[in-house]
Amino acid sequence: MSQTVSMDKIVAFCKRRGFVYQSSEIYGGIRSSYDYGPLGVEMKRNIKDEWWRSMVYARDDVVGFDSAIIMHPKVWEASGHVETFNDMLVESRSSGRRYRADHLIEEATGMEVEGLSPEELTRIIQEDERIKDPVDGGRDFTPVRPFNLMFETYTGPVKSPENVAYLRPETAQGIFVNFKNILQTSRVKVPFGVAQQGKSFRNEITPGNFIFRTREFEQMEMEFFVKPGTDEEWHEYWIEERYEWYLRLGMNPENIRKREQSDEERAHYATRGVDIEYNFPFAGWSELEGIANRTDYDLKKHAAYSGTNFTYTDQATGESFIPYVIEPAAGPDRMMLAFIVDAYTEEEVAGEKRVVLKLHPRLAPTKAAVFPLTRKEPVATIARRLYEDLRGDYRVFYDESGSIGRRYRRQDEAGTPYCVTVDFDTIEDRKVTIRDRDTLQQERIPIEGVRERLKELISG
Ligand code: ATP
Repeated sequence: MSQTVSMDKIVAFCKRRGFVYQSSEIYGGIRSSYDYGPLGVEMKRNIKDEWWRSMVYARDDVVGFDSAIIMHPKVWEASGHVETFNDMLVESRSSGRRYRADHLIEEATGMEVEGLSPEELTRIIQEDERIKDPVDGGRDFTPVRPFNLMFETYTGPVKSPENVAYLRPETAQGIFVNFKNILQTSRVKVPFGVAQQGKSFRNEITPGNFIFRTREFEQMEMEFFVKPGTDEEWHEYWIEERYEWYLRLGMNPENIRKREQSDEERAHYATRGVDIEYNFPFAGWSELEGIANRTDYDLKKHAAYSGTNFTYTDQATGESFIPYVIEPAAGPDRMMLAFIVDAYTEEEVAGEKRVVLKLHPRLAPTKAAVFPLTRKEPVATIARRLYEDLRGDYRVFYDESGSIGRRYRRQDEAGTPYCVTVDFDTIEDRKVTIRDRDTLQQERIPIEGVRERLKELISG
């Protein structure tokens, strides 16, 4: 990990190694859209798989789910998003640029203004001379107004108000509106959770910091339904559980923290929220995940708007109640940036500089690379066969070009934890060398044992 790594370096690195590209680059790119390259797609998939494994497969009280992106518009009226999912927008008349009023004020003055009304924000901007348009220094601003972050679209061929629909701004609502379906069709009993991963869309006024804040992004959310009165305890449980998850995947504990949300910044539906934050060298402490106590807000609202009864009856005690909800909500795109920054290391080995991405093996895009020391036979064929035997369960890379040192360096940069080399001695002793990316230690083991050994090392 390097606290000094700059955003420019990370962006260039991600492009050079095929993690992330600017979207539509050949047309000049589109702001805030990114595409995941061959290594990036593997890494993001690994993050999502690790989340799913720990949230769904490793437990008996959480089931998976996948709802539509476009839902009935009433969903968003009931959830409160049509009315309150706003950011405060201000426009500079001199440059024509639009800003988030809270960011503009906070950056110029250090004041915490989350939760203030548009009128209060307008007054602060007018009165405080330190607040200037970052582009041209101008101080001619429009009044602040709320700007709804939901993307609107139309369903069907007619662009009329009755056909307005929204791209979901969070995955959670798909779970709430299906609460009854899930209850009736699976054997879940409170307390239980429903986990979902998928795209969400927010028309952010100021996207930025690469893949940290984009308008189209993925979310991983789990709604955990509990008996009212046990919610605070479960909230604590999930805060710890989620925090530990990052540590288990190798994140440096110094760069990650839990932070209590203030009353002003909490979402409209929550009584308590705790963020898990990462200390980005270019942006400081920033949210990777929020763990909220959403109470019975959503189920009650959907009950009122749809007329559906969401009362749950405990078969053992006969008690009836509307469950409370604890929600860990995370974003794999942000997480990926954090894991890359955390793992990116420049170091000197034997007088030579190397860039190495010290990712946890489970997150590494490529788990192993196989090299023949030479292209000569039978070394090359033995290596090729080993590669063919290993591939299938995860990404394995075969490389026979360039010096062995160069091949190692390429894999170090890509975060590949293990390189397996077939050399001349292999012909006689049927053994190969496994090199560890971080310790650079090499072990020599029989070729038949490589598959098992890698499995052990990766799951380790
Ligand atoms: P922020 O305050 O940074 O806008 P938020 O509190 O609105 O985030 P939540 O609504 O709690 O975010 O969403 C849960 C998670 O979804 C966030 O922790 C983040 O990882 C991810 N996420 C939210 N908005 C974006 C975005 N614009 N781009 C990428 N990821 C996002």
